[in-house]
Amino acid sequence: MKNQKHILVAQLFISSDAHILKGLLEAQDITVFMFDEGFSSLTPADAVAVGGIKIHVPFEQRNKAQKIVDKFYENLKEEKILKCANCGSTNLKHDYIEHIKYGFINLISAFAGANASHGVRYYKSCLDCGDKN
Ligand SMILES: [Zn+2]
Repeated sequence: MKNQKHILVAQLFISSDAHILKGLLEAQDITVFMFDEGFSSLTPADAVAVGGIKIHVPFEQRNKAQKIVDKFYENLKEEKILKCANCGSTNLKHDYIEHIKYGFINLISAFAGANASHGVRYYKSCLDCGDKN
């Protein structure tokens, strides 16, 4: 790309995460360019294959954008580690069997070109309410 006017600030493998970040950036008057979104939204496996959804911002807005991106990643990490979607408990147990099952379904569906992986991310059992997260 000659005379590059925008710069990569984030790569995300989940389409909804990318859209949340895009919204946060745009709320701060930052122009957002998203790449590889169409392909990445097929399955997470496809997203990994193309390196995820790339979020670019204009070069002159990179510092402002980077702060928002850092904060976003921090929140994302906390969210993923911490709470049960049903009761908000932090008392979650990682379910390795479900995780392996999910990985297997994902692999098969990627080979079959199907889209079976959406909404089946239940790796964690809540020890307080028994809900799968
Ligand atoms: Zn719970």
